[in-house]
Amino acid sequence: MRLYSLDRLSLTYKTKSISQQDFKLSIPHLSINSKGILTIVGKSGSGKSTLLNILYGIEKPTEGSIKFLGKSLNKMSDKKFAQFHSHYASMVFQHYNLFSNLTALDNVALPLLIRGVKRKDALYKAKNLFKKFNLENIINQKADTLSGGEKQRVAILRSIITSPKVILCDEPTGALDTVNSKIVMDMFKEISRDITIIMVSHNLELVNAYADRIIKMVDGKIASDVTVNETRKVYEVPRKLKPSKDKWSNLFVKDRLKSNFKRNLVSFISSSFGFLAIFLAFGFMNGSTKSHEAAINSNYGVGYAKASMKSFYDIENSPLKYEKSIRPTLEDIDEKIDMPSLMCDLNLDYAFSPYPTMRYKEDTILNFEMSPIYDTNQRLEEVVINEEMLTLLNQKEEEVVGSEFIITNEATFSIASDDYNSPFIKDNISYSLNLKVVKVVKEFAFLNSPKVYYSYTGVRDFLKTQVLNNISKAEKKVTSIYDYIDQCDDDNIASSYSYNLFVTDKERINDFFNIIQTLKDKDDSFQISSTPYEIRQNYINFMSSFSNALFVFVIIAFVGVNFIIGMLSLSSFIEHKKEAAILTCLGARNNSIMSIYLKENNILILLSYLFAVGLSIPMQLLINKLVIKYFGLESIIQIPYLRYLNIPFLLPLGLFLIAAMISSLFVMIPLLFYRHLSLSMELKDE
Ligand code: ADP
Ligand code: MG
Repeated sequence: MRLYSLDRLSLTYKTKSISQQDFKLSIPHLSINSKGILTIVGKSGSGKSTLLNILYGIEKPTEGSIKFLGKSLNKMSDKKFAQFHSHYASMVFQHYNLFSNLTALDNVALPLLIRGVKRKDALYKAKNLFKKFNLENIINQKADTLSGGEKQRVAILRSIITSPKVILCDEPTGALDTVNSKIVMDMFKEISRDITIIMVSHNLELVNAYADRIIKMVDGKIASDVTVNETRKVYEVPRKLKPSKDKWSNLFVKDRLKSNFKRNLVSFISSSFGFLAIFLAFGFMNGSTKSHEAAINSNYGVGYAKASMKSFYDIENSPLKYEKSIRPTLEDIDEKIDMPSLMCDLNLDYAFSPYPTMRYKEDTILNFEMSPIYDTNQRLEEVVINEEMLTLLNQKEEEVVGSEFIITNEATFSIASDDYNSPFIKDNISYSLNLKVVKVVKEFAFLNSPKVYYSYTGVRDFLKTQVLNNISKAEKKVTSIYDYIDQCDDDNIASSYSYNLFVTDKERINDFFNIIQTLKDKDDSFQISSTPYEIRQNYINFMSSFSNALFVFVIIAFVGVNFIIGMLSLSSFIEHKKEAAILTCLGARNNSIMSIYLKENNILILLSYLFAVGLSIPMQLLINKLVIKYFGLESIIQIPYLRYLNIPFLLPLGLFLIAAMISSLFVMIPLLFYRHLSLSMELKDE
């Protein structure tokens, strides 16, 4: 079978400049059948390299056919293309094209590794070649430390290790001195007993001394074709080929990680921070919902609410209605709220204003709230304040605890009289209470205001002892402030239009909030208002919008980080385009070359992922500490490492897999570019 046969083959290069003519390589017929050294000679620009590239399959003819061992080289699949280079044809370049960071031995063994041969076997065969050509002394040297002559001999060993049928050489001695040229040519001569060597050369002396056949090119055409020695021929049918594996790419991954250190550091840092942000965001989304419950329940006044009733009155001759709040009846409350451990009692705000004036030391303090606590052990004179109140007083805890202040309240109570001249009987009451701060409590700070918590029962019992003299006289029975409020009409301002509700069992707070929630959803005329509930609701709404925003941010961060990594990998690819081209010529398939980038990428992702996991633990502690300090919220960040959505290890494993997948997708972008790469252009010797 013929090694090569070319028929009516032509290739045209269009020039971009007007002054230059298009170049046309035109070969009506050429067949190559003998072993030995075939040299192609001719002036520069006559088409020698172009012909060689066509024979090597990295340049396609515009017209005509080229067959190698009976099979067409015109159209080859990626797989066939790789097989052709890893089994049948090798190239030796003028500038060697060795991988400078690999040792001489690895460079030579590489084509076998690419083919899928075991590393041990490949190195054994490579070592034997070094031995055979007396090059054992340079075996472990890195390629970039070798001399030109040594490099070319290593390149030749690399070209023969696959036992190809043909070795193509483009001016292999062009960069060598006379002595080295001769050594290299001797090596070729020996090899040419088994393998056809097709060599471009302009060193006529060497050509005349070594060539078995000389083809002379002029302006893209074969001007002469002279056979000097006829050597043995006959080529057997191609063997069946095994598929190649990818392990060789590890050689390059290691090198890439090192040589792209700065670029990789940027990738590493940016993806670490991306991962960290994602972890913390998940921790926040998880923790914020849990932590507010504890925080709300730690609120000293939690479980206090006011219940009132809305009622509408018609306005005469108008479609409008007039809305008024009235105090509900106890039956109303019972009917609406069915809950154990709920205390229901009069609202005493009319007599004991929630917004009074305080005299503390020399100062008058305003803008704080008196809030009742249902604690039967707490005495009237003893109050508890929250930290916000402490801030308002502008004092240290030690100074405030134990110190006294005065609260002044005044109110007018009246009833209708029969006397036409003075229609009302009035009692103007004014009293001052000396109160003592017994404790300062730390509360959930979100939307919270300065508060003084007093004993509801204490105040109630006190108001029972405060007799309204004028009214008592008129009604002929002892009437206290408490009695007055109790007996007044439900639409009287003294009723505060509401009842006080207290949940005495802290365990039931959430049930209570749920009841409030359902009542609110119903839009009933029965109304409950509770500051802790409002704070909780606002907090939940705020957190859920914050979580949503965070989620969007996380997605953007995630895609952004992967995009950066993908772009950096693309830049690395562009930087190493020639390397990819050489690997292709050694028989590597595109996918295998891509696996170098994928592995490099995945190692980076893994490292930055582990780093982020490690960093997320102290970050979680730190942020939680700060949040507790400034907002009184316990463990706002709880990264669900172990269990998420009830699936074990969902977050850590899922996140890693998704990240590896997305970034791999971005890394594959170079593959798309690579398909359009012109090998002959990439491999052109400068
Ligand atoms: P030689 O190796 O004999 O010096 P080449 O085969 O490299 O010559 O080039 C032959 C002609 O084709 C030259 O004029 C060169 O400029 C042109 N040429 C070579 N490669 C290309 C290419 N990829 N695109 C366009 N023109 C090219
Ligand atoms: Mg050339």
